[in-house]
Amino acid sequence: MKIRTKEDYIKSLKDQKVVIYYNGELVEDRTAFPAFIPHINSAAKTYELALLPENEDLLTATSNVTGKKINRFTHIHQSVDDLIKKVQMLRLIAHETASCFQRCVGFDAMNSLYMTTYEIDEKHKTKYFERFVEYLKKIQEENFMLVGGMTDPKGDRSKRPSQQADPDLFTRVVEKRKDGIVVRGAKAHQTGAVNSHEIMIMPTQAMGEGDEAYAIVAAIPLDAKGVTLIFGRQTNDERKFECGIDAGNCEFGMVGGEALVVLEDVFVPWERVFMCGEIDFTGMLVERFATLHRQNYGGCKGGVSDIVIGASALAAQYQGTLDASHIKDKLVEMLHLAETVYSGSIACSAMGSKTKSGAYYPDPLLANCTKHNITRVIYDISRLAHDIGGGIMATLPFDKDLRSPVVGKYVKKYMKGVEGVSTETRMKIVRLLENMTGGTALVESMHGAGSPQSQRIMYQRLGKLGQKMKMAKKIAKIDE
Ligand code: SF4
Ligand code: FE
Repeated sequence: MKIRTKEDYIKSLKDQKVVIYYNGELVEDRTAFPAFIPHINSAAKTYELALLPENEDLLTATSNVTGKKINRFTHIHQSVDDLIKKVQMLRLIAHETASCFQRCVGFDAMNSLYMTTYEIDEKHKTKYFERFVEYLKKIQEENFMLVGGMTDPKGDRSKRPSQQADPDLFTRVVEKRKDGIVVRGAKAHQTGAVNSHEIMIMPTQAMGEGDEAYAIVAAIPLDAKGVTLIFGRQTNDERKFECGIDAGNCEFGMVGGEALVVLEDVFVPWERVFMCGEIDFTGMLVERFATLHRQNYGGCKGGVSDIVIGASALAAQYQGTLDASHIKDKLVEMLHLAETVYSGSIACSAMGSKTKSGAYYPDPLLANCTKHNITRVIYDISRLAHDIGGGIMATLPFDKDLRSPVVGKYVKKYMKGVEGVSTETRMKIVRLLENMTGGTALVESMHGAGSPQSQRIMYQRLGKLGQKMKMAKKIAKIDE
């Protein structure tokens, strides 16, 4: 592993010059830019924590392609145990960051491609798997962070890719050459894009006849010619520039730093192309990637929820309400919700199975159920946090007011809770809760890894409704 420490990771990002725009301006050095530093710090935990002996079992693995010790974020799952360890690892890292650490998307892209390229080759006699394994070895060796580039802008959702008025609204191949392909389009909402090394572009949906140019998988370094990143605006983003109490969690941020990744006629050599026109495998790839990412949410969001629960209890303690029975009851409800989503992630992992490639895959129905629960449970946990935290979360004065030589004494006096806890301490917890339970953080829980409707479609497909009707008929003794 070439990149081992946080410092190695930051240096690797600094050395790779990527074109990134923030608020209309080009960012010169992505590693020194205040809006990106929290996201870099979060992803850096996937490197830092892997070096601690007590985390070796969860954060490292033995590569099935080289036999070498690697970071688990570059590993191909070889067993149910690997699937379970993935979830445990995510909860552990979330406890350190209290935010998205972004590296799972590329991890899931690699696993879904390992399984799917194997099966494409089996049917079409192509050489994608072999190529992909070579690429995987490089990623494991370098210990790179990948963006899992699935979501296209999609334009008019009622139309197929090839029917769009603007053909670039789905990423496509515009030219095939002897030495490679030329790609044009964009990937939207890309988690961790500004602090990754490469993007793995994949089709955003199952493609039909006529959409062959859109059935494309390719690995593109983020400094390749024609790649431009435009960072997304987040709730309270300017507070990161001050990096005081108001930011809530200034060191790690609140969610993954998402960006629009524009691909303007980017050349990709054939050795980095892992699907090109095989429309019959696009559905399988999308479903596998989605399942592998939906598997995660009870791990990472369960871990983030643990911090929200702890902060809620502290907020109650600091205002003298912790012993009230209704507060205790609300905290118990929050604990129940966090463990419920975590058990979903563990369950879909425990029920995982081996694919033809040898890689292990979580149970898709249970993984979709896990993510679907997140789209509701995080709102419930946040609602309870708001209930416990009180109106102060919406009306608390600024950090600078607390430090003002004129009004500071009033903030200190009137924002104080119980004896023995400073106003500053109380403000820190209130701000942490505020920032973790609103705006971008909630929307990410709703739409990250796919909107709730995409999970409901999977219930329709995998929920065996017909079989359930038959079982009911048998019990009711209906013969017809
Ligand atoms: Fe990983 Fe969770 Fe962030 Fe997705 S939302 S990248 S699973 S931490
Ligand atoms: Fe996400």
